[in-house]
Amino acid sequence: MMKKVNNAKIKQYTTYKLEGEIKTIYFPENILELKELINKLKSNNTRYKILGNGSNLIISSSYDGVLIKLSKFDKLDIVNNIVRVGSGYNLSKLALKCAENNLSGLEFTFGIPATVGGAIYQNAGAYGFDMASVFKEALVLDEFGDIFTLSKDEMEFGYRDSILKHKDYICLEVTFELKMCLYDEIMLKMKNNFNLRKEKQPLDYPSAGSVFRNPLNLSAGRLIEEASLKGYKVGDAMVSLKHANFIVNLGCANAENVIKLIKIIQDKVKDETGILLELEQEILK
Ligand SMILES: Cc1cc2nc3c(=O)[nH]c(=O)nc-3n(C[C@H](O)[C@H](O)[C@H](O)COP(=O)(O)OP(=O)(O)OC[C@H]3O[C@@H](n4cnc5c(N)ncnc54)[C@H](O)[C@@H]3O)c2cc1C
Repeated sequence: MMKKVNNAKIKQYTTYKLEGEIKTIYFPENILELKELINKLKSNNTRYKILGNGSNLIISSSYDGVLIKLSKFDKLDIVNNIVRVGSGYNLSKLALKCAENNLSGLEFTFGIPATVGGAIYQNAGAYGFDMASVFKEALVLDEFGDIFTLSKDEMEFGYRDSILKHKDYICLEVTFELKMCLYDEIMLKMKNNFNLRKEKQPLDYPSAGSVFRNPLNLSAGRLIEEASLKGYKVGDAMVSLKHANFIVNLGCANAENVIKLIKIIQDKVKDETGILLELEQEILK
């Protein structure tokens, strides 16, 4: 029987650590179990969503679907500079494994609390790099149960965007092509990146990273700061004092608090600048 958790606490599965519960989280062991599960959910008309590390999600208790966590999809295979990895693998752990194998290219990911699949879905990026920069191909499962490989072009990567956001594809496995490099050089880059994160981001509170996408040539954080919203609170959800494009959970925030705060920020920034900030995080309700 496939492992599942009923009435799962949202705070245990997401980085915002919001209050509330999810009806069920399933943990398929392999592709066959995943396919069977999806068939069953579809025939019952049950909504479902893949859950990575929950580091870009605002999940409300009102979400009436189920989640599928691919933590068992965690195989790692490194041959020369080619890295094939399961989509449930932890991204920072992968960066460290690559460093141990003298492979450079994923240093920017160290400190992004994501799974490989979630990072590909979002084309996660930092410091001028993104997942597309080292991507070779991905194995995906579509809504009809077909499994196929997508090339870099077919992934249609963009700023925090990929085809996975627009089609009902589940990423099963990703292949990266990295460059050989000295271990010490790789570790130094990762350490420098991580120090920048600690300096700029409110890592001492639960959050889901940047709330809004940066408008072209502008910084969402600066616009929010200029709208005097740093420190503004709804319940225990607060615009971070350290970085205005982060909402932090001071302890007992729920999704409704975060969603209300997002609307207040969007309205105030729109009133003052005419710019509508677009959400980077994803709401499940
Ligand atoms: C402290 C902090 C720092 C962050 N820094 C950055 C940063 O520097 N750059 C950046 O881009 N982001 C950053 N983020 C945001 C977040 O980590 C990324 O968006 C990440 O890509 C989300 O991955 P996840 O595994 O947590 O996905 P989740 O949040 O669990 O899911 C996000 C979306 O991906 C989908 N998904 C997940 N796995 C799969 C799969 N296998 N197949 C298909 N769809 C899938 C989910 O269904 C959902 O729609 C940060 C977040 C935090 C909390």
